[in-house]
Amino acid sequence: MRIVFHGAARNVTGSCHLIECRDKRILIDCGLYQGNRDMDEENRNNFGFEPAAIDFLLLTHGHLDHCGRIPLLNRLGFRGKVITTAATRELARLVMLDSARIQEEEAKYKGYKASKRKNRGEPIEPLYDTLDALNSLDAFVDIIDFEKPCDLCPGIRATFFDAGHILGSACILLDLEEAGNRRRVLFSGDLGCNGRAIIPDPATPPHADTVIMESTYGDRLHKKLEPSIEELYQAINTTIARDGNVLIPSFALERSQELLYHLREGVEQGRLPRNLQVYLDSPMAISATQIFRRHRECFDEETWAVISAGKDPFELPGLHIVRDTAESMALKHIQGAVIIAGSGMCTGGRIRHHLRHNLWREEASVVFVGYAAEGTLARQIIDGAEEVRVLQEEVEVNAEIFTIGGFSAHADQQELLNWHARTGSPEHTFLVHGEEIAMQTLAGHLNDTKVEMPNLHEAFEL
Ligand SMILES: [Zn+2]
Repeated sequence: MRIVFHGAARNVTGSCHLIECRDKRILIDCGLYQGNRDMDEENRNNFGFEPAAIDFLLLTHGHLDHCGRIPLLNRLGFRGKVITTAATRELARLVMLDSARIQEEEAKYKGYKASKRKNRGEPIEPLYDTLDALNSLDAFVDIIDFEKPCDLCPGIRATFFDAGHILGSACILLDLEEAGNRRRVLFSGDLGCNGRAIIPDPATPPHADTVIMESTYGDRLHKKLEPSIEELYQAINTTIARDGNVLIPSFALERSQELLYHLREGVEQGRLPRNLQVYLDSPMAISATQIFRRHRECFDEETWAVISAGKDPFELPGLHIVRDTAESMALKHIQGAVIIAGSGMCTGGRIRHHLRHNLWREEASVVFVGYAAEGTLARQIIDGAEEVRVLQEEVEVNAEIFTIGGFSAHADQQELLNWHARTGSPEHTFLVHGEEIAMQTLAGHLNDTKVEMPNLHEAFEL
């Protein structure tokens, strides 16, 4: 039996790992590469395996960098089964359909630009389209509950554990047996932090022989959550007091719902103005919030207490839901409000319009509450650029910029080490889903295991 790393190898996107055992091929995640043009190109390269030969795809969670190439996999011949949790199935549906729409729009735009050039070249095809995304949903046949083992076939058993990262997210344990060789292989997926709103802390992992662990924040510690909430409230209060808008570029899944949760608490506790006007300007975040409401089984005790008190965890008096594009555009006329819009790294979505209309204003502020990969607009602003290019326009950055680290959906270095320590000194640990420095730093702290940092398409015997 062996493992081959076909994605998130020495970078943070495109998660895709292949297990070969007996005559079966099991994929763990099939995510999209994101971040810059090179990454976009990588999506069009060969998977490194034959999609038609895959028997099972076990999906850790619904983020695009974990499920975003499933429609492509399906288009190229995958006919196996996708197995995941009920919440992840719904979130992945939303994410894959949204991604298909973006792929179609980008191809159309590039085609339009190419049509104006002399050497028109080949027509530009989307990576996949909405039909591919819809077709791939037919493969999501089996739902799995946390900590209930599922026999995929003789000699291969999968168990999902709550990863505490986003709604429905899982770590996956594979119990493998081939010709008398038994291995327990544990995939961390993306690991969450302790003490966050809405979902429980990551579950205690089982012991394993081989661990495949994410390392996004392998080189740093997060700020604590409570001071970060205080920082968020202060950023809002000072900006609103000078009649500026607070832009919060936010990921549609989990982060937007967490923000609504904390804003509701802030208003209830009198730490934010009672009449605080909040615009949730993201159709995807709105749909995701509905999915959260349908999957209460994934909530933690505190969120259940809110529900038991007769309240909706994601509702507050001044909340406006903005689905319509014209309504979103009209927000350029408002002042003194909070606008939550995607995308979190400002690489697309409605936030770019709001940045164009607010970044140059001294009274405005931009509050970053999530991860910003290298090369993204969010990273440029965070790194202190004085001027940035937004929607083909140079815009001065005069707004106040806040970077609040405590809302991360990823475990920090100490939490990664604590989680790893509970896996019982595995023989091998493969670090994935991290930038070079983060992986090297984390590797330096893992002393009771042989650490590997695989290259793309690199294979290892188990
Ligand atoms: Zn994730």
